[in-house]
Amino acid sequence: MSTTLSAPPLGLLLEDIVRRHRPRQNAGSVPTNIPFLATVPFDRFGIAVATTSGEVFSSGDAGVPFSIQSISKVFTLAMALQGGRSAGLWSRVLREPSGTSFNSLVQLEAEKGIPRNPFINAGALVVTDHLLEETPDAATQLLRFLTEQAGSPGPFIDEAAAAGELDSSSRNLALAHFLKDFGNLTRPAAVVVENYVRQCSIMMTCVQLAKAGLFLANNGQGTSGTVLSPSETKRIGSIMLTCGMYDAAGEFAYRVGLPGKSGVGGGILVIVPGRCSICVWSPRLDAKGNSLAGTAALADLSDRTGWSVF
Ligand code: GLN
Repeated sequence: MSTTLSAPPLGLLLEDIVRRHRPRQNAGSVPTNIPFLATVPFDRFGIAVATTSGEVFSSGDAGVPFSIQSISKVFTLAMALQGGRSAGLWSRVLREPSGTSFNSLVQLEAEKGIPRNPFINAGALVVTDHLLEETPDAATQLLRFLTEQAGSPGPFIDEAAAAGELDSSSRNLALAHFLKDFGNLTRPAAVVVENYVRQCSIMMTCVQLAKAGLFLANNGQGTSGTVLSPSETKRIGSIMLTCGMYDAAGEFAYRVGLPGKSGVGGGILVIVPGRCSICVWSPRLDAKGNSLAGTAALADLSDRTGWSVF
């Protein structure tokens, strides 16, 4: 795969990215509502690139499973859009950047229970409710989807981590109750939140996530066939670009120039349309809930390869 003329071959470049960006001190934060995440060593750092030509490059801790958290929101949206299943969804959730934190209650109240986009918690709860119309266990459906797209068994739901998060899910329950009060939730709030938290608790490696996200870079074509139409795939990429990093979407677009989706487990999935899908992981977060080292590494990688949608 060609990068810019001055860049070394991709495998060597990724090794250099790991050397430069693996954290040397415990800077940044971990979310307080998910006890499991505080146990992950601060110096973990992995990166993987899956190309549309079928190659996979990786370096660092790219084979270590981590909690995908909000990266799950890209894939639940893809599932909700598959095969014309989106009927009714877009009247329940918008496609505008939120400009607020991912779990803000204020905006949801002010905007009468219609979440700004599917990548903040309130929006993802609506998407999960939508999926629950067809299955009682949307988290297991998501696990199957991710396993199929990753091309091999490996992803799993960390039920203990999910139980730990559920014990301190007051804010997500509050969001779900607001949605319910505004008539924008069909299932009971507790059922939707439990499914949502189990989706977030799926464990995957950078390599598995990069492969699972490849359809987003490949016109909707996944490992075993068509996942989405090219037009739906383009739309998910657009929502990633504008809403994928919560209230840091503008800053991330400025620094990296690519559609991305982060999770508070420290992972970021990024798409280079037509070329590759990239997953980077490092667990310590900035004030907006995005991986500190992961964002810096992606800015560096996009500068050195010239990969950008601009
Ligand atoms: N499970 C997390 C939560 O609901 C996911 C948030 C995230 O990754 N931004 O708080």
